[in-house]
Amino acid sequence: MKNFANEPFTNFALSENAEAIKSAIAQVRQELGKTYPLYIGEETIYNDDLIISTNPANENEIIGKVAKANLAQAEQAIETAYATFKSWSKVEAEERAIYLFKAAERMRQRKHYFSAWLILESGKNWAEADADTAEAIDFMNFYAHEMLRYANPPELIPVNGEYNKMKYVPLGVGVVIPPWNFPLAIMAGMTVASVVTGNTVVLKPASATPVIAAKFMELLQEVGLPSGVVNYLPGSGGAIGDYLVSHKLTRFINFTGSKEVGLRISELAAKVAPGQKWIKRVAAEMGGKDSIIVDETADLDKAAQGIVASAFGFQGQKCSACSRAIVVESVYEEVIEKVLALASKLAMGLPEENFSTGPVIEKRAMEKILEYIEIGKTEGTLVLGGERFGNQGWFVRPTIFKDIAPTARISLEEIFGPVLALIKVKDFAEALAVVNNTEYGLTGSLYSRNRENIAQAKEEFNVGNLYFNRKCTGALVGVHPFGGFNMSGTCSKAGGYDYLGLLMQMKITSETLG
Ligand code: NAP
Repeated sequence: MKNFANEPFTNFALSENAEAIKSAIAQVRQELGKTYPLYIGEETIYNDDLIISTNPANENEIIGKVAKANLAQAEQAIETAYATFKSWSKVEAEERAIYLFKAAERMRQRKHYFSAWLILESGKNWAEADADTAEAIDFMNFYAHEMLRYANPPELIPVNGEYNKMKYVPLGVGVVIPPWNFPLAIMAGMTVASVVTGNTVVLKPASATPVIAAKFMELLQEVGLPSGVVNYLPGSGGAIGDYLVSHKLTRFINFTGSKEVGLRISELAAKVAPGQKWIKRVAAEMGGKDSIIVDETADLDKAAQGIVASAFGFQGQKCSACSRAIVVESVYEEVIEKVLALASKLAMGLPEENFSTGPVIEKRAMEKILEYIEIGKTEGTLVLGGERFGNQGWFVRPTIFKDIAPTARISLEEIFGPVLALIKVKDFAEALAVVNNTEYGLTGSLYSRNRENIAQAKEEFNVGNLYFNRKCTGALVGVHPFGGFNMSGTCSKAGGYDYLGLLMQMKITSETLG
């Protein structure tokens, strides 16, 4: 794509950059604990009922308090989005794109400020937070450029006596439901893609990270996005989610999160509400159980680095995280040794002090991960970690099990934490069979120097994003359009050329000339 370049990552080894992020964190600390309203149309609404967002590294530190919407406010938000659609859908594509370009530019100018919120609210270290902010900037620029392209679709095949034209038109009201693990990038990406295409939305942020979403709303207001285009409606997924999804005026749902919630949304959205005039569209990007295969020809040092980075980056809380390393037996012991050598050096501590590994998002998540660790102890041999770290914040030590059977629970179920299962296989053929034995199909990676194995993996390793001789995390907007197969979702490929098409429909006009 012309004119688009990915936002570069910040090099924190340079002292001026390290100082800049530290001072952004200090600035954000001054702003902690504020109360944020709902934004519905022109109204800012403060509720007594609040979501209290806390720092996962220190549960006593309140990041912010956010109004928690009730059903009447959910109704108001949908109706406001519906009313605003009439005007917003008529705004020229270029005008809509300019709002995104402006927001991207302003976020770039205050990049570390946004990253600092991510560090304190979601527990990302400097580099992970920086990558999240960079991806948000990329999504805004990429989708803005994409809208300009979609606004000038290719010409149709000419036919004598007719003038025919195709045009993409928006769908209507969308409900945007992001997860907490990329609380800026995915939240912003799903929102701006939905509105640059001429739709209006109700944005229900994840309850663990609503403040960063409020900061994003402030940015949209700053660039003058008309009120009612994005309606900010924090609230419990369980309490208002079903209502928003089932509403007769909801035209589409743009969801990223767990398989369980994605399937529920898909099922509810399929039911036609009284008075509903359309079939709802659902983009549901869901969980993963991502594998790295290492064969006997691989560069084992590189493989170990890739496994450790993919398994423990952001504490394994990425849908793309490597939770299974499948290693052929001739190099199995050597790979374990190298993985352990690297993983045991990962320093654990406060994200704001930029430790390699930090906390998991919340107490419930920590408890679920610790339960899986207990299950792992009955399914294989614990070789690293296996316990909580400290008693403040929600820290779980990087944990590795070896000799896990391919059908073990910790081999098949998404844990979403710093837990890696090592699986020994006879050969590459068996490795391929194991990678495809889960219900998911999101990312994966093969470390190999064997061209035949690489070619076979391209055909048979059944995931939406497959990498070779590199880690299985770290997709870049436009470079690695992202989305999975099977129970990993509808494969909408965020950051790809087809994405905006999912949020519009094509109208053909055909005029007789004679
Ligand atoms: P989650 O529990 O499914 O929640 C995701 C969102 O859904 C949250 O905003 C949540 O709100 C909302 N929600 C919950 N119940 C709902 C309902 N009945 N109706 C409507 N919305 C509802 O997932 P998460 O824990 O935030 O995120 C982690 C999951 O996301 C993992 O499975 C991960 O693999 C997946 N993920 C996938 C991708 C991908 O591209 N495939 C990317 C990132 C993450 P509350 O917060 O209020 O519960």
